[in-house]
Amino acid sequence: MKRLIFILLFLGLNQCFAQIKFEDYFENKTLRMDYIHAGNSDTSYIFFEKFKEEKFWGGSTTNLIDKFNYGHYRLSVYDAKTNTLIFSKGYCSLFQEWQTIDEAKKIDKSFYEVALMPFPKNEITVTIEERDKKNVFHKMFEMNINPTNYFIQKEQKYNFNVVQVLNNGNHNTKVDIVFIPDGYTKDEMEKFKKDVDKFSKALFKYEPFKKYKKNFNIWAVEAPSQESGTDIPGEKVWKNTIVNSNFYTFDSERYLTTSDMETLHDLSSLAPCDQIYILVNTAKYGGGGIYNFYNLTCSDHYASELVFVHELGHGFGALADEYWTSETSYNDYYDLTVEPYQPNITTLVDFSSKWKSDLAKSTPVPTPSTKEYESTIGVFEGGGYLEKGIYRPKQHCYMKELEADAFCLVCQKAIESMIKFFSE
Ligand SMILES: [Zn+2]
Repeated sequence: MKRLIFILLFLGLNQCFAQIKFEDYFENKTLRMDYIHAGNSDTSYIFFEKFKEEKFWGGSTTNLIDKFNYGHYRLSVYDAKTNTLIFSKGYCSLFQEWQTIDEAKKIDKSFYEVALMPFPKNEITVTIEERDKKNVFHKMFEMNINPTNYFIQKEQKYNFNVVQVLNNGNHNTKVDIVFIPDGYTKDEMEKFKKDVDKFSKALFKYEPFKKYKKNFNIWAVEAPSQESGTDIPGEKVWKNTIVNSNFYTFDSERYLTTSDMETLHDLSSLAPCDQIYILVNTAKYGGGGIYNFYNLTCSDHYASELVFVHELGHGFGALADEYWTSETSYNDYYDLTVEPYQPNITTLVDFSSKWKSDLAKSTPVPTPSTKEYESTIGVFEGGGYLEKGIYRPKQHCYMKELEADAFCLVCQKAIESMIKFFSE
């Protein structure tokens, strides 16, 4: 009997890890699903908008099932006939951050969102799951689509020139970063290209990006705006720009985001894309990065380059902020009785799922924030917008402050394994 159980377990495990062959289920282009995400602090709903066919699939054709389990949401694609999971991806959204601010207790609000999956050969079932307060996923949306459906839109809205700034080969085995300009006029396109060059060079000064430069492609979409700059609502400054970015998101002056996901994806789909990076043409300090959603940085502040890598830590690495001193509008962002999914913070509820194995035996838990432990990987209290109850791996890291001299080892490892996932 024991032997039988062993064989069954083995078979079961084997099935779990059986690799999905891309060409059995997909064509090398993208199926895009647009939807409205709406609700308030307690509820959230998804309302389907449209499907669209896009010409490139930027992601891996080998790693189709998400192994990280990061993100507040999970997109899953099943082969409708056999119910086999053939694609999944975790992500976060601006809506979920909005749910944690006071306004969400008073009104309902809707946000436009976009989900991308490789283009299926046969009928699929698309699901979106959301985590509850205990971090357990629950299905909130399900829909079937047949790729022969003639309502899948095929028109391309924009036809801007796309420049490949860094070419390391096949986009299915590289991390493709697509730069989108916001607030650069036609006359400022040369400045945009110079800025892309500046940030691309900056990226590869920092580990682990430096070590893995060969695993990246960089693209720039030359999409001009009518006006220069961006919206600064708190200063009553409004500019007509192509992806409608703005400061003062959730009343945080430096928080730079956009809600115009439709235009953003109409632009980013012009190149193979794993990460969208919006360069906002301004010298005002600010940025934003949401996991597998988008990244933004100001172009001309003296700290822009560091903002750029910090935000990519969020957008690409699913890393949490390791600070707690700066003001944010979020309420109860983390539940201290639950282990957060982000790899670089812990509530110590399930520390062994985090960087426990990177700790030297002699390092005390929690680790005192003293000079003695300044270069040690430890468990330092403070992080994730909270002074107490959340712990971070190192006293100083780019996810905590831009004055740090590097990403901590835990953040580096998390980014590194993401780079590898996209490079196979
Ligand atoms: Zn870190």
